[in-house]
Amino acid sequence: MNESDADYLSQGLTAAGFSAVADLDQADLAILVTCSVRQNAEQKAYGRFRELKAWKRARPGRAIAMTGCMANKEKDRLYERLPDLDYRFDMRQYEAFIEDLQGEYETDPAQTGGVVLQHGLTAYVPVIFGCNEVCSFCIVPFVRGTERSRPLQDVVDDVRRFADQGVREVTLLGQTVNSYRDPDTKAGLATLLESVERVPGIWRVRFLTSHPRHVHDDLLFAIRDLPRVCEHLHLPFQSGDDAILKQMRRRYTVDEYRAIIAHARNVIPDLSVSTDVIVGYPGETEEQFQRTLALLEEIKFDVVHIQGFSPRPRTTAARQADDVVPAEKKRRINVLLDAQRRIAEDANRRWLGRTVEVLVERAENGEATGRTRQNRVVIGAAPLGAQVGTVRRVSIEHATAWQLRGQVLN
Ligand code: SF4
Repeated sequence: MNESDADYLSQGLTAAGFSAVADLDQADLAILVTCSVRQNAEQKAYGRFRELKAWKRARPGRAIAMTGCMANKEKDRLYERLPDLDYRFDMRQYEAFIEDLQGEYETDPAQTGGVVLQHGLTAYVPVIFGCNEVCSFCIVPFVRGTERSRPLQDVVDDVRRFADQGVREVTLLGQTVNSYRDPDTKAGLATLLESVERVPGIWRVRFLTSHPRHVHDDLLFAIRDLPRVCEHLHLPFQSGDDAILKQMRRRYTVDEYRAIIAHARNVIPDLSVSTDVIVGYPGETEEQFQRTLALLEEIKFDVVHIQGFSPRPRTTAARQADDVVPAEKKRRINVLLDAQRRIAEDANRRWLGRTVEVLVERAENGEATGRTRQNRVVIGAAPLGAQVGTVRRVSIEHATAWQLRGQVLN
C-alpha cells in the first residue's frame, strides 16, 4: 500500500509541475511514506528521518514531508517530536497537499520537465481503502479509517494509464480487497477483475489481501475463468488455534479456514496460496503455537509471512500483557520458518518437468528472471530474445524452496 501511495504521490506531483529525481542530492523535497503496522516499522521511519535531517541542513530551501500510517497516528505531535519536519499530511488528502505545495513552489504544470518517475512492468492500484474488520492486534482501522471502495471506472482508468506507460501486470490493493464494492453499482471484486483484465496491454492481474470471511464462489470462478487473472490467493490465517483466533476477533475458526482453502483448491487447478501468521500473541501457549505449526504443515502454503506479535497503541490486544518474551517469539518464528522451508521446497518440486509461463522482469548474463502466474520466481537459461517485458515459456529442471530454474524455450 505504501509503494502504491508513493507512486500516486509522484504521479500527482509530476502532473503538478514537479520533477522526480533519482538522486536525493538533487532534490528540494523528500517525502517519507511511513508504516505503523509494527513497532520496528516506525523505528525505521524515525531512523530514515534522522538521515534526512543532515540532508536538509546541507542546503537551505530543502524540506521534509511525512505521510502514511505513522503520520496519521502521531498527528501534529510529530512536529514537536521532529522539529525539522516541514509538512505532515494524510494520504487521503494528498491532492490538497500537492495544491498547497504548488502555491509555495510556484510550479507550472505546463513546464514539467526533468525525470518523470517511470513504471516498471508491474504496478499497484488501490481499489479499497481502510478496513471494517476489528482484528484485536491491528492498527489499520485507526490510521486508515473504515472501508471506502473506489468507483470501478476510476480503477479501470488508472489501469489504462499504467498500461499506456508500459505496465503489464497490476496488483489490485486493499486491506480486505475482497470486500470491494463499487459505490454505485455494488459490483464486487469479481466484476472489477473482469473489467481490469479487459484493458489492452494488461497481461496479468493479481489482488491483495483477501479476508477469509469474504471468499465467495464468484471470486473463485473469476480466478479460474478469467485468463489474465493469476491463480494466486493471499489469505492470512494468523493462528492455528481457535481460542487465539477468537481473541484476535478474526471471526472464523480453523475448520472454516481449512474448508475455504480446500474448496478454493478444488475450484482452481494449480492455485498458489500464501498467508500471514502471528506468533506470540498475548497468552499464546506452546500448545496453541503447536496448532499453528500443525496447520502450516497440513495446508502446505506456497509462501508464509511470519511476524512476532507487536503491541500497537489503541488496539485491544495492546491492553493485554505482552507475555511471550522476545526470545520465545523469535524461537517460534524460526520453528515456522524451518518448517516452511521444507514445505516450499516440496511444493516447488511439483513443478519439475513442467513448462511454466514467465513474465521476464530481468534479463542479463544469459539468464532471464521473472515470475510465474502463481508468483514463483523462475530463473531460466535464456536464448536471445527473452527480453524484459516478454512472456516466455520455461521448462523447469531444478527446484529450491525459493525459486525454480530451467531453460527458456524458443
Ligand atoms: S482485516 Fe487486516 S487490516 Fe483489517 S483489521 Fe484485520 S488485520 Fe487489520
